[in-house]
Amino acid sequence: MKYVDEYRDGKLAREIAERIRSEALPSRQYNLMEFCGGHTHAIFRYGIPDLLPDNVNMVHGPGCPVCVLPISRLDTAIELAVTHNVILCSYGDMMRVPGSRKRSLLKARAEGADVRMVYSSMDALKLAQDNPDREVVFFAIGFETTTPPTALVIHQAKKLGVKNFSVFCNHVLTPAAISSILDSPEAGALGLLKLDGFVGPAHVSTVIGSQPYERFAVEYSKPIVIAGFEPLDLLQAILMLIRQVNEGRAEVENEFSRAVTRQGNERAKQIVDETFEERDSFEWRGLGFVPRSALQIRAEFAEFDAEKRFPVEYRSSAENSACLCGPILHGVKSPRDCTLFGGACTPENPLGPCMVSSEGACAAYYSYGRHQ
Ligand code: SF4
Repeated sequence: MKYVDEYRDGKLAREIAERIRSEALPSRQYNLMEFCGGHTHAIFRYGIPDLLPDNVNMVHGPGCPVCVLPISRLDTAIELAVTHNVILCSYGDMMRVPGSRKRSLLKARAEGADVRMVYSSMDALKLAQDNPDREVVFFAIGFETTTPPTALVIHQAKKLGVKNFSVFCNHVLTPAAISSILDSPEAGALGLLKLDGFVGPAHVSTVIGSQPYERFAVEYSKPIVIAGFEPLDLLQAILMLIRQVNEGRAEVENEFSRAVTRQGNERAKQIVDETFEERDSFEWRGLGFVPRSALQIRAEFAEFDAEKRFPVEYRSSAENSACLCGPILHGVKSPRDCTLFGGACTPENPLGPCMVSSEGACAAYYSYGRHQ
């Protein structure tokens, strides 16, 4: 299959791995963060750690949309479903994430709340059209990849005059999260590894382009290589990062040029800009409150903003202290450091979002046998 088989060629993979081994200087350590949870899963699915020398260390970043949503926002979604008697629509991964007192959307549904799983934002709008006597709220989460479809559905609802539809907006911004990791004041105290570079996200970059990462190369002297999801993409990106580090360069390079441009998708960026504006601050699991790191619905579309439409009360909710998802998302702990991993916490009985989500690091370790 074009664009798939050619990026999974085992012989080529071994050749690139050999280059990595020969070019990685034995005298130093290379700590490379893959920001995106999809990359984390691809790295383990294809056994890439086994192809890397010991001094090339992949650090897992916060790019899992389900994982980074703090309990307080999930609790608010549950409150919307329970107290305000709305039909609450969510993507599947979100359903089993434990909120306060381990109550998930799925448990709320078992207790009588009308919670429904959808595959797209348009499914949620259709539900609203099919149920004109009920309020339908779309629980929107995700990075820049899923933001344009949410913007589109808000425009569509306005155009069609759908009055019983709104969006609980939790869309977050990748560059702000990278800044937060690099600026982290507690990094030293938490033992954050000195990061030498980033594997930049694939899907997000198809929307925002490579340009927003350029400031990390200039201001923080961190190389970034945007990579696709296939094994050769990832190995090539790792090789490109090692070369930059060895040559003392800090640039944004684009390994995923078959899908990513410098400017990104102008039409998608335009509709997002028309619909949303930056929040002053937003809470992330693992990163705390990060300034200008998330989006809210613009005043012109306030009628579709669930936060304006329903009197929801925001309460800060304590995270499960035994779960290490926070530090894992920060890149300072690994799933192996969690004593609950694979015992009390499994994909069948997840105690934290990193084990629930198809992009979570704990789920990746569990699925691909990295728990020994
Ligand atoms: Fe949290 Fe479970 Fe991962 Fe431990 S194994 S960090 S409890 S999700």
